[in-house]
Amino acid sequence: MARLELDHLVKRYGRGGEPAVQDLSLEVNDGEFVCLLGPSGCGKTTTLRLIGGFLKPDAGDVRIDGTSILKEPPERRPTAMVFQRYALWPHMTVWDNIAFGLQVRRRPRDEIARRVEAALELVGLPAMGRRYPAQLSGGQQQRVALARALVLEPRILLLDEPLSNLDAQLRVHMRTELTAIQRRVGITTVFVTHDQEEAMSIADRIAVMNAGVLEQMDSPEEIYAQPATLFVATFIGTMNRLDAHVDAGWVRAGPFVAALPDIGRLNAGSGASVDGALVAGVRPEDLVLETAGQGVPARIDSVVDLGHYRRVTLTAEGTSLLAFVPRSEPIPTDRLTVAPRRLLLYADGHLLATNEGGVKRSGSNASGSTGGGSPSISAISSAIEPGKGAIPLGPWPVRK
Ligand code: ATP
Repeated sequence: MARLELDHLVKRYGRGGEPAVQDLSLEVNDGEFVCLLGPSGCGKTTTLRLIGGFLKPDAGDVRIDGTSILKEPPERRPTAMVFQRYALWPHMTVWDNIAFGLQVRRRPRDEIARRVEAALELVGLPAMGRRYPAQLSGGQQQRVALARALVLEPRILLLDEPLSNLDAQLRVHMRTELTAIQRRVGITTVFVTHDQEEAMSIADRIAVMNAGVLEQMDSPEEIYAQPATLFVATFIGTMNRLDAHVDAGWVRAGPFVAALPDIGRLNAGSGASVDGALVAGVRPEDLVLETAGQGVPARIDSVVDLGHYRRVTLTAEGTSLLAFVPRSEPIPTDRLTVAPRRLLLYADGHLLATNEGGVKRSGSNASGSTGGGSPSISAISSAIEPGKGAIPLGPWPVRK
C-alpha cells in the first residue's frame, strides 16, 4: 500500500524569478498510474526530483501513506527512479547492473540472486543476464533500467520520460509492456512525459502542468471532454477557439449563438464570471456539417483525407473553423451549414459551463431553457434567428 501526497510544494531555482513548481498539491492513489504532462519547462522533472529526494522543496511536503519523507535522502526513500537515459553501467553485465542496488544494501547473496532472476523475468528478459548493455537493443536496455528500479521493491516508481529515446514503433510497444508490468506489480507510479498521446494511452489519471502550476488532474477521458482551463483545452487535442461575449442572456461564440439558461447560477457556481473575458471551445469532431441544416451557413476551404477521417477547414460568417469528419460520413457541399454539437465556455481561462444539449432541432424553442425573461433575438448583434445556429444550452452542468 502506498499513497503519495504532494502538499503545497514550492521549488525555486536561485533567487527571484518564478518558481519552477508553484504550490503544487496532488494525490496519487495506491497502485495508480499517474502521468505528469505539460510543455517543456513546466516543472515535471522538478516535481519528480522533489519526490525522489534529489531536490529539496522551498515549501510544502511529500508524504507516503501520510508520513513525510522530506528528511530522508534519496537512497533511504521508498522510491526508485528510471531516467530518460537508461544510465546502465556499460562495463557490468545486465545481471550485475540489476544486482548493484541490492549489493549496496548488503542483501544476502541468495536473496540477491532470487530477486534479480525475478526482476529479469518480470521485464521479459530471463535469458539476458550475462549480456552487456551494448549487446542489447534500446528497448531491452530500457527494460533493464526498469528491472534495476523494480528489484529494489520500491513503493513508488518514478519514471522520467523513459520511452523518449526509443523509435516511434518501439515506443508504442513499450507503453503496453510498461503498463502490463505496472499492473502486475501493482506499484504506485508517477510517469513524466510531454507527449499527450503517450499520457492519454497509459495513465489512470493525468496531471496537466503549465508554468509550475497544476492545471487539472483527471482521467484521460475527463481531461479531453471537460478541460478545466483554456490551457488544457488547447494543449490536449485540437480545439476551435472562439471569442465569445454575453448579451442579454445569450452567448455569441464566433458565428454561433446560444441561449444562456441562468447567468446568475453560472456566475455563482464556478467562481468565474460571465463578465470576464469569454472564450468558447469546440472540438473539431463536435462540429456538425449538414445540407441546409440548423447551423450557420458555411463554405469549405479545404479537405484533407487522413484515411479514417477527413480534416475539413471551413469558414462561417468570417470565422475559420476546423472539423473532423469520419470517412463514413458525406461532406455536404450544397447549402452547407455548420453547428456545434457541444461547446465549452471559458471565463478568464476557467471552464464556466458546457452544453450537453446538442444542436437545436427545428420546432424546438431556443428560449425554452433560459429560465424566464427570454431575450429578444434583436438584442444579439448580427443576430441569427433561433433554429439557425442557436443552440439550446440548458441544462448546463456547472463545473464545481
Ligand atoms: P522538460 O520536458 O523540458 O524536461 P520539465 O517540465 O521537466 O521540462 P523542469 O526540468 O522541471 O521542466 O524545469 C522547470 C523550470 O525550472 C524550467 O524553467 C527550467 O529552466 C528550470 N530549471 C530546471 N532545472 C534547473 C536548474 N538546475 N537550475 C536552474 N533552473 C532550472
